Amino acid sequence: MQQFVRSITLAYNNLPRPHRVMLGSLTVITLAVAVWRPYVYSPVMGPSTSRTVPAGAQPARDLAPEASEPIDQSPADNDDDVPLADDLDEKVAGETGVHEYVVSTGDTLGSILTQYGIDMSDVSLLAQRFPQLRNLKIGQKISWTLDGGGELQRLSWEMSRRETHTYDRLDGGFKESVANQAGEWSNAMLTGTVDGSFVTSARAAGLSGPEINSVIKALQWQLDFRKLQQGDRFAVLTSREMLNGRSEQSELIGVRLRTGDKDVYAFRASDGEFYNRDGAGLAQGFMRFPTVKQFRVSSNFSPRRLNPVTGHIAPHRGVDFAMPVGTPVLAVGDGEVVESKNGSGAGNYVTIRHGRQYMTRYMHLKKLLVKPGQQVKRGDRIALSGNTGRSTGPHLHYEIWINQQAVNPLTAKLPRTEGLTGKDRLDYLAQVREAMPQLQFD
Ligand SMILES: [Zn+2]
Repeated sequence: MQQFVRSITLAYNNLPRPHRVMLGSLTVITLAVAVWRPYVYSPVMGPSTSRTVPAGAQPARDLAPEASEPIDQSPADNDDDVPLADDLDEKVAGETGVHEYVVSTGDTLGSILTQYGIDMSDVSLLAQRFPQLRNLKIGQKISWTLDGGGELQRLSWEMSRRETHTYDRLDGGFKESVANQAGEWSNAMLTGTVDGSFVTSARAAGLSGPEINSVIKALQWQLDFRKLQQGDRFAVLTSREMLNGRSEQSELIGVRLRTGDKDVYAFRASDGEFYNRDGAGLAQGFMRFPTVKQFRVSSNFSPRRLNPVTGHIAPHRGVDFAMPVGTPVLAVGDGEVVESKNGSGAGNYVTIRHGRQYMTRYMHLKKLLVKPGQQVKRGDRIALSGNTGRSTGPHLHYEIWINQQAVNPLTAKLPRTEGLTGKDRLDYLAQVREAMPQLQFD
């Protein structure tokens, strides 16, 4: 399996990196194919840097495994199945109800929005009415808000630092408005020492919420923020837009963190992603499927919430693979087991956390092979599949969560393993040479 994954990764590394991302013809049929063909997925394992929180009053309850299966549900059992969340999670989750995404290689408006379960009819409507949305570029920021029923209310597209287009739902369609940012951008260097939690220390050093968020995301694959020591140092170089003496928005350029006698660095490239000093990718790659061989999809991802009128649509926050009881279930990426236990509806299940932004969950298992707190590697056996809990036949229910938002495991952008190449790499290294000497602890 490892060999197989390596050869795929190698193949990806040889793919060209187009700079323009075109939104292809957006017929309902192409979208339908992209969303529902179970074994076909984008060959580009690009990054996904969205920042999300489920809209609605009880995000914690949405995270519980009981909320994941579409079978008619009595109100969720009152157990404590919510994976642990701390102030770092809150930071990474960001503003309530706002989902954020940086456009990367191979993305289209359709591929971005549908992996989060947004209705393809809304995507088609937007693309037909506003053809410029077919011309997303790498590194641009897209954000959106949903209403309580999971319906798209607003889409924002940051075309550049100077111009943002916003599309608001209105009268059965969408209305566009354009905002121009007039502030001046300048660099700021902030340094601090860890005293208490990282979030508190960073705030004391003058970093804003979004800036702390960027630092956590940039360094998530290189260190565990919960294991920082008193006295660890950090230096943050950020670019801030100032308007009327206030900082309107900012963009992290580079960060250095010294923990013990180890220095870790991350710098932002023009694609909006973070790389190390040599331009290498920081994330560990994920496997697309949690089993050695691929099994038939018996139920697809379908995150739409219960429709209060018809009462018929219920969320299915993962994908079901039909497989014989006893099939080895594998961790899709390196991470830490945060749950391995029995939850009534979910049966025996395992939750793994990968970095700060990613979480995967495996349900209806027969036998658990890992314990909470255990570190696992990609491809490790974590359980044997089964038919436990609220299940109508032997299958594995598998979920991927990005920033506490369930995404479609068959189409989700997974963390990238490949680094920068060619001109992108040279540009990046020039940037690093300029930024690195500035990252001094005073
Ligand atoms: Zn399921």
